[in-house]
Amino acid sequence: MDKNKQDLHKEYFNLGVAFTGVPSQDELAHCPGVPTEMRMQHGRVACIECVQQIPCNPCEGLCKFGAITIGEEITNLPKLHEDNCVGCGLCVAGCPGLAITILDRSYSKREATIDFPFEYLPLPAVGAWVDAVNRAGEVVCKGRILRVLKPESYQGTAVICMAIPQEYLNEVRSMKRLPKQDRRE
Ligand code: SF4
Ligand code: SF4
Repeated sequence: MDKNKQDLHKEYFNLGVAFTGVPSQDELAHCPGVPTEMRMQHGRVACIECVQQIPCNPCEGLCKFGAITIGEEITNLPKLHEDNCVGCGLCVAGCPGLAITILDRSYSKREATIDFPFEYLPLPAVGAWVDAVNRAGEVVCKGRILRVLKPESYQGTAVICMAIPQEYLNEVRSMKRLPKQDRRE
């Protein structure tokens, strides 16, 4: 991307989720659901990128560890209590906004992991290399699939765990949809 295009792109995405469907860096910086770098280094932790004050709260009830609170006002933004989070991932499939991922910088020196919700078919195979994408769906790097979970209790949403280079953990949030020929039989 040339410099002018890069500037326009940056300006556009700085408008925020109400305009682009993608949270801006400013919205993320003020989001009470985002864990600290230090917590991510200690192991799996939820990252709740829910930045619009919408009437929604299933995440609070799904977490049995008191790691997510919204409170009496249902439009409050979910707050992550990062020290209570055990990284179980139960909140990921249960969020109707697909706003929650599990991040882990402790996986290895070079790679971090992200668990993300995925509602498309085909699903990737464990061990496959896929295109890892950012919040806007743009390809950032390659990712390696470590786990694919889709129990009945997730009601159609799969949760995929993917290893990516450490330097892209704050950017990558999902994977690119697979073409039909890569369908897992
Ligand atoms: S990953 Fe588990 S412990 Fe952490 S917030 Fe989600 S449900 Fe709670
Ligand atoms: S369930 Fe998802 S969309 Fe609803 S409040 Fe929680 S994080 Fe936001």
